[in-house]
Amino acid sequence: MKCLSRWTWLFCLLPAGPLLAQPFTHADTLRGSNGPGRNWWDARKYTLQVTVDFTDSSIRGSNRIEVEQLKLGKLVQVDLQEPMKIDSIEVEINSIPRVKRSVIKRKLFMLYPGQFSEEGNARFFQVPDSVTLRSFTVYFHGKPRVAKMPPWDGGSIWKKDKAGNPWMSVACQGLGASVWYPCKDYQGDEPDAAELIITCPDTLSAIGNGRLQEKKLNGNGTTTWRWAVSYPINSYNLVPYVGKYAHFNETYAGLDGPLDMDYWVLEENLEKARSQFKDAPRMIKAFEYWFGPYPFYRDGFKLVESPHLGMEHQSAIAYGNGYRNGYRGTDLSGSGWGLKWDFIIIHESGHEWFANNISTKDIADMWVHEGFTNYSEVLFTEYYYGKEAATAYVTGLRKNIQNDIPVIGPYGVNKEGSGDMYYKGSNLVHTLRQVINNDSLFRDILRGLNRSFRYQTVTSRQVEEYISKRSKQDFSKIFDQYLRTTDIPVLEYKVSGQYILYRYRNCVKGFRMPLRIRCGSERWIRPTGQWQRIKRCGTTEDTLSVAPDFYINTKKVP
Ligand SMILES: [Zn+2]
Repeated sequence: MKCLSRWTWLFCLLPAGPLLAQPFTHADTLRGSNGPGRNWWDARKYTLQVTVDFTDSSIRGSNRIEVEQLKLGKLVQVDLQEPMKIDSIEVEINSIPRVKRSVIKRKLFMLYPGQFSEEGNARFFQVPDSVTLRSFTVYFHGKPRVAKMPPWDGGSIWKKDKAGNPWMSVACQGLGASVWYPCKDYQGDEPDAAELIITCPDTLSAIGNGRLQEKKLNGNGTTTWRWAVSYPINSYNLVPYVGKYAHFNETYAGLDGPLDMDYWVLEENLEKARSQFKDAPRMIKAFEYWFGPYPFYRDGFKLVESPHLGMEHQSAIAYGNGYRNGYRGTDLSGSGWGLKWDFIIIHESGHEWFANNISTKDIADMWVHEGFTNYSEVLFTEYYYGKEAATAYVTGLRKNIQNDIPVIGPYGVNKEGSGDMYYKGSNLVHTLRQVINNDSLFRDILRGLNRSFRYQTVTSRQVEEYISKRSKQDFSKIFDQYLRTTDIPVLEYKVSGQYILYRYRNCVKGFRMPLRIRCGSERWIRPTGQWQRIKRCGTTEDTLSVAPDFYINTKKVP
C-alpha cells in the first residue's frame, strides 16, 4: 500500500486496530491526490460523447482525453465510479525516435477489461517505455448512481416535467464527475477545453456548456447536439441537461464587449423565466463592477432550468429555484435583503469568478469557492441596496455558522472542510475588508485575484498571500484563526476607573487584528493578548462598542 498524502501517511504507519480506525482509505488518496498515475501528464482536452437513454436511465459513450506529457511516466490512472463500466480504452502514443531525425510514429492500441487493473473507482493501465502518450479514449456505459438529494448528494437525476416529458441532468460536485463519465477526477488538473456531444430523443433538447456548434438529426428518432467549451473547466462542471426546453436570449453590453446571454427553460415556465431572469444582467453588471470582466465571454453565459436546485456549471448555470426570490423563497440572512433577488441566479453565477475562473486544486480549500461566492451575494446587495443592507445581510448570515470543524479540510483525500466555508468564509472576507479599510483597494484586490489567477487552479495559501501582499498587511494569523481553527476571537474588556481595559482571548498566537469601535466618534484599537486601555468615552459609558462588521465576540469581564 502506497501512502501518498501528508494526511494519510501517518495512518499508513500505524498498525490497524479497532482504536485506530483509519479515517481515510487508500482509495481516498488515489482520488484526492496528484499520485503517480496522474502527476506526469496534464489533461488538455476532453471530448465527451454520450447517448442518453431515458428508457432505462442509462448513459453510453466515450471520453477522449488529450494529454500533454510533463515528464516520463508509465502508469495512467483514470477514474470511473461503480456501477459505470469501462468497455475498452483506445490509447494513442508516439514512439520516441531512437536516432535523431528519424520519423515519429503514431500508434494506437486497444485495451479491454482484464488488461487494465482496478482499485476502487480508479482504473490503471500502462504505456510502454520510450513512447509519448498523446491521448486515450475511454468507452463506457452504465446506469450512473442516481442522486437521492441533489445537488448535495450527487449523481444523475431523471425526472419528468409537468407535461410528462422526460428531463435529466447530473449534479456531481464533491462526489466527482467520475460518477457518470471517465476522467481525471482531480480538481488540480482541468482540461483546457472540452466538447460535450449529447445524443437524445429528437423531441427533446440537449444543452451543454459553452457554445452550440452543431445540431444533427440522426434519422433514427435521435438528435446529436455538439457543445464546445473554449476555456479550462472543472470536470464536475461539464454536465448535460436534456429536456423539453424553450429558449430565449439577449445581448449584454459588458466590460469585454457584447456578452451573449442565453436562457433555456422548460416550455411551461417560459413566461415566468422572462421576468425572473432579469436578475441575470443585473448580476453581470454588479459582479463585473466588483470582480472584473465575466471570465468566459467566448463561451457566453447561460441559465439552464435544472431538475435540482442549482449548481455553478460553467457558462451553463443550473437553475432550479422555482422562479422565486430568495433561497427557495426564504432569506438565509433573516435580514429581508435576501428576498430582493433570486439566490440561485446570484450565488451560482458568482461562482463563475470564484470556482470556475479561480478553482482550488484540492477541495479541502473549497472556502475559496464558497466563501467568496457567499460574499458575492453581499456585494450584489451592496451594489443595488447600499452598504447598510449589505452589512445587515452578511452579519445576518452568522447565525448559520456552526464552528464545528475547521473551514479548511484535510489535504489529498478529496475531503471538504466545514460547511462554515460559506457563511464564515464570507464573514472572514467582510472582516478583512474592514481591516483593509479602503474599499477601492478591496475592490482592486478582488479584481486582481480574478486577473492574477485567471483560469488557474490555486491553493488557499496562494489566495491568502495575494491578499496580504496587495493590502501590505500580514493577514496570516487572521486566516489561520478563521480557516484553521474553530475558535472565534473574544475581545474581553472591563471598566477600571476612567479607563476601559481590553485584550484578545481565544486566539492563535500572534493574533493582533485591529478593530473599529464607537467611542463618541469612530476610532481604532489594536488589541493583543495583553491588557491595554483607552479612556472611557463618557462617565456613564461602560461598554466597548465594536463595529458589527467584525466577526468577533465581545465579553465584559469583572
Ligand atoms: Zn456555492
